Amino acid sequence: MEKQSQLYAGKAKTIFLTDDPDRLIVEFRNDTSAGDGAKIEQFDRKGMINNKFTAFIMEKLDAAGIPTHHEALLSDTEALVRRLEMIPLECVVRNIASGSICRRLGVEDGLELNPPTFEFFLKNDPLHDPMVNEYHALTFGWATQAEMDEMKARTFAANEVLSKLFADAGMILVDFKLEFGKHNGKLYLGDEFSPDGCRLWDAETRKILDKDRFRKDLGGVIEAYEEVAHRLGVRLD
Ligand code: 5GP
Repeated sequence: MEKQSQLYAGKAKTIFLTDDPDRLIVEFRNDTSAGDGAKIEQFDRKGMINNKFTAFIMEKLDAAGIPTHHEALLSDTEALVRRLEMIPLECVVRNIASGSICRRLGVEDGLELNPPTFEFFLKNDPLHDPMVNEYHALTFGWATQAEMDEMKARTFAANEVLSKLFADAGMILVDFKLEFGKHNGKLYLGDEFSPDGCRLWDAETRKILDKDRFRKDLGGVIEAYEEVAHRLGVRLD
């Protein structure tokens, strides 16, 4: 597989074309951003951790029947993935209230959500990723009803698999964000799954083990990511 020119550079990952039109290379960088890119910092080892973490989680999801774009780890910071046409919607499931839902709805941080709730957000940094509903998506052509139904079902299925995986390692999966795309008419999970895009708390102490450590200036960001990886058995070296 030959790495070719850069296709796109996001806030934490760079995407490269390959000599296979159906395959891309994702490079995970050390950049960490918050506030839609308003705050950016580099953390040593973060690209490597998120690359290996994402590969580990995507392999678990694939094995559970939730198809992902992941194909192979290529290096510490690079992975080979299936090329997808991304749907510009973020799918968020919440098991416990934290973050934007508390600000928007005035609910208490830490409130258990039964049943877990689901939200779509539009991927749009200048607009600060606004929450949108299914009528918006249909009207503006971001996704079809069938695509949204499938994304919701897959996101809830991933919640079942991953909540148990993290619970078995002494953590609570508070919430997470997934992004999907299409390849030859089939839906796949794309993007990444790492502590950058989910909330994870220690089950006993509720210590924050995810990107909220960076967002809230709590320190120990990489130490927390490494602890999560270690608890799950993700091999980092
Ligand atoms: P909230 O809506 O509370 O800000 O985020 C809900 C969940 O989705 C959190 O786990 C958060 O990390 C994730 N999330 C939402 N939007 C983004 C985003 O643009 N980038 C990343 N990395 N995660 C996001």
